[in-house]
Amino acid sequence: MKVAVVGAGIVGLSTAKALVKRGHEVHVFEQFPLFHDRGSSHGRTRIVRKAYTSAFWTGLMTEAYPMWADLEAQTGQKLVTECGLLYFGNRDSERIQTGIAALESLSVPHEVLGPAKAPQKLSRLRLDGGEVGIFTPEAGYVRADLALRVTYDVCVAHCVQFHLSKGDPHELAQSHDLCIVAAGGWITNLVPDLDVRVTRQTFGYEQTPIEGAVWIDDTTLAYGFPSDDLGAKVGAHENGPLTNPDDMGVPGTEDMEVINSALRDRFGITKPDVQHVTTCIYTSTPDEMFRMGWVGDNILFASCCSGHGFKLGPWTGRTLAGITEGQPIPSEFHFQA
Ligand SMILES: Cc1cc2nc3c(=O)[nH]c(=O)nc-3n(C[C@H](O)[C@H](O)[C@H](O)COP(=O)(O)OP(=O)(O)OC[C@H]3O[C@@H](n4cnc5c(N)ncnc54)[C@H](O)[C@@H]3O)c2cc1C
Repeated sequence: MKVAVVGAGIVGLSTAKALVKRGHEVHVFEQFPLFHDRGSSHGRTRIVRKAYTSAFWTGLMTEAYPMWADLEAQTGQKLVTECGLLYFGNRDSERIQTGIAALESLSVPHEVLGPAKAPQKLSRLRLDGGEVGIFTPEAGYVRADLALRVTYDVCVAHCVQFHLSKGDPHELAQSHDLCIVAAGGWITNLVPDLDVRVTRQTFGYEQTPIEGAVWIDDTTLAYGFPSDDLGAKVGAHENGPLTNPDDMGVPGTEDMEVINSALRDRFGITKPDVQHVTTCIYTSTPDEMFRMGWVGDNILFASCCSGHGFKLGPWTGRTLAGITEGQPIPSEFHFQA
């Protein structure tokens, strides 16, 4: 089949790669220069975890993990680092309590650590007496920037054709057998009634070294990564302001306050020095599920969002390639446009 893919974020690139490897002729249309910083897939890292507190997402990650390993083997690049994830907060908080119960019921390896032991997993961390950290070792981060590059390289090596152009799915559906729209926050241009919120999140890189696990603060939903040459990436997960992805956008002052407070209160960094501050488009649904569906007979769309999109990129690419060849859309994700 001759397939057009709209969007060259992690979802579009992974889909193009999966399709071309199955022998399809693939054309990718991207409105901005490749690897730009206007969408959802840029930046150094994304959290990956093998186990969620939900059997559904854990099942998908069980499929996705070996796909990352395959991509590493194919390209010789180390993409995933398992440094563990420390989720910390008040012992009595509902998310902490339900999280521990779910990890136990799913037999997911984890440790619940008090204020004395939690810093062994995450340098500088300060917890109060009533707080705990839940450490899951089978988690860490994927190098998002490298993952995009090597997925693109595999596409090029298999003769995917890239077009720097804004694609109109309805027109592309006439000149191709199928058009797959992986447009990130721009998806509502095609499906205006899709139940997604498009917000603008802020993140940056703290210059004081922080070592150990990736982390999420249950109280503020600030999150962060161990330091690398850019610094320790730190961001605010709570939905930022609603945004139009066509706007350039500026870092949010509220998000920066959450980030700086976390650095001060949790890591004792009295004068945070967050560099390379930027924004990222976050697309989320009320139930945190992805959305996939058909517009007409030959436009397939996917909104792979709610903070799961990157780690499941290769899985999503394979799934969309399968749908192209007649497999059904997973019922949990199906949206009737
Ligand atoms: C701050 C932040 C933190 C996150 N943390 C995590 C995390 O820890 N773990 C995780 O798994 N996920 C995380 N996510 C989510 C994840 O990054 C996204 O779900 C994923 O990157 C979405 O990829 P995408 O390809 O769908 O979108 P995008 O990367 O935005 O790609 C869509 C592309 O489509 C292009 N496009 C749109 N319309 C057109 C058109 N008409 N013609 C041509 N091109 C078009 C856009 O220019 C864009 O390049 C995070 C997201 C953000 C913003």
